[in-house]
Amino acid sequence: MTAYDPDNIFAKILKGEIPCHKLYEDEDTLAFLDIMPRTEGHALVITKEPAMDLFGVSQEGLGKLMTVVQSLAPKIKKAVGAEGVLIQQFNGAVAGQTVFHLHVHIVPRKEGVPLRPEGAAMADPEGLKATAEKIRAVLGE
Ligand code: 5GP
Repeated sequence: MTAYDPDNIFAKILKGEIPCHKLYEDEDTLAFLDIMPRTEGHALVITKEPAMDLFGVSQEGLGKLMTVVQSLAPKIKKAVGAEGVLIQQFNGAVAGQTVFHLHVHIVPRKEGVPLRPEGAAMADPEGLKATAEKIRAVLGE
């Protein structure tokens, strides 16, 4: 993958061509639940600026993305009753990146609850919906 593909899966989510469980949106970013969550509340924050990875985005866009990550992560953690939160970001297939549109993972962690393997299973749609509602309730506080 050498150039940004405007039809990648996250670009399609941004265009509204594919549904998502949206948590937050502003002019520059969108946050939604990961469809194959590694823990309950696993969310992704993406830029609206088209960028493949950390190295393809403007400094301004990166700042806005990370500001949203910093603000959302503790709220997601609270909503699912987690004690910690893992922030993850992959660059390049060899590093584990599978969708080539810049995104940051917010993965709530609970004592004694292991991470599900990456890409292991699609979440039950009702479960994802319930988790999104819990998170939106905290975001609205
Ligand atoms: P990466 O390994 O590129 O950092 O992670 C991409 C993430 O996107 C994975 O955790 C995967 O589960 C998630 N993902 C892939 N396709 C979709 C989709 O269509 N909708 C949502 N919500 N997440 C997706």
